This record gives sequence, structure tokens and C-alpha cells, in this order.
Amino acid sequence: MARSYVKEARRRVGPKRARIVPIVERLLAEHEDATIALKFRNDLELLVSVMLSAQTTDVNVNRVTERLFEKYRRPEDYLAVPVEELENDIRATGFFRQKTKSLRGTMAMLLEEFDGEVPARMVDLLSLPGVARKTANVVVAERGQAEGIVVDTHVRRLSQRLGLTRQEDPVKIERDLIRLVPREYWNAFPHLLIWHGRRVCIARTPRCEVCVLNDLCPASRVEAVTPASHARA
Ligand code: SF4
Repeated sequence: MARSYVKEARRRVGPKRARIVPIVERLLAEHEDATIALKFRNDLELLVSVMLSAQTTDVNVNRVTERLFEKYRRPEDYLAVPVEELENDIRATGFFRQKTKSLRGTMAMLLEEFDGEVPARMVDLLSLPGVARKTANVVVAERGQAEGIVVDTHVRRLSQRLGLTRQEDPVKIERDLIRLVPREYWNAFPHLLIWHGRRVCIARTPRCEVCVLNDLCPASRVEAVTPASHARA
């Protein structure tokens, strides 16, 4: 995209601070059903599901956890079986050796440090083996106490297209979003971008012509309606 065109597009939609609330409100109206796609019944299952979801789809994780959670109900259960058995039980989620190591390390630490419960605070979650910022963010947000904003591939792409960040690195993108998005929306915001990214703002073929954000988005492919374009019509 030519530089002048980008500048013009940014000027057309206005500053991001003025756009962010309308963007969130329109997405809330558009995707009322936007919630986490992983299936879980308690905090332990939530943590395990999110750990297993690295590098695979939520559908795939749900397929595996349907059986897994019948067999492994407490942290002790993940340590009571041979390593190979747990590896086999989660094999279909990919990277199963590393994930088994992380799961067992996490379960051991939950028992040693947190009375077998999943801790509530971000700092404690981040101390668990194999639990990175994204995993911890998802867990904390699902419990309604978001301390940050989850940045996955959809959140990254849409934040960039919507001109909410110019960063590439997820940590820096999160920093930009935290400054911009009002705190009451931190839980919902990633789900909204994820669902919008799956349904409308698709990576290769964004459907700008049906997008509720097309007048607020500098990357929109729909021609802006301006006095000049009216005059041409
Ligand atoms: S207008 Fe197009 S590029 Fe912008 S958010 Fe909508 S679909 Fe994506």
C-alpha cells in the first residue's frame, strides 16, 4: 500500500482513541455469542485446555479433552500414570512430549505450592512450568479478572488492520492495546477480534463489504463515501 494512501486512510477514519469504543460496541452487537471455544468444567480443566491449545485448534483440543477429563480429574491423576501414558492421551494435540512435561511440572507445582488449586493471580500462574503469558492471560480472563489482553494470531492481524497498533511482537501489541482499550472490555475484546477474524476479517480475503467496521477501519477495501465520491457518482 502506498504511503500516502495509508496516511489518507488513517485520516479518513480518525484517531484510534476516538474509534476504540465504537469498534468494541459494534463487535459486541455483531458477535453476541463470542466466547472461548474450549470446553471445560472447572479451573483445572480450563488451565489444561489452554496449555494443550498451543499450536493446534480449539476443536482438536476439545476432541482430546472429552476423554482426558474423564480420566484425569485432579492434579494427582496426571502424576499417577507413566509419562508415556499421558503422552499417548494427549498425542493428537501435537508437541505432546513438551506438553506432557509442562503438564506434569505444573501439576506437581500446583500440589506443592497451591494446595492443588489453580492460582488466581497472573504472577502465580506465570510461575507454573510451561505457562506463558498468553496461557495465563486466557485463564485469568475466563475467570473474569483480566489483567491483560490475550494476543493470538487473529488479535494481532485485526489490531494491525484496524490501526490500533503498528507493532509485530505480541507483547508490544498487548502493551498498545492495554493503553487503548477500556479495562471493562479486556475480557471480551480478544474473543470479539477472534470471532470477527474467523467470520469476516479473514486473513487472505477480508470481507470488508459486509464488515460493520468498514467506516472505522483504515485497511477497509470498501471505498469511503466522501463528498468527492458523491460528486463523481
Ligand atoms: S473493514 Fe475489512 S480489513 Fe477492516 S476489519 Fe473489516 S474486514 Fe477487516
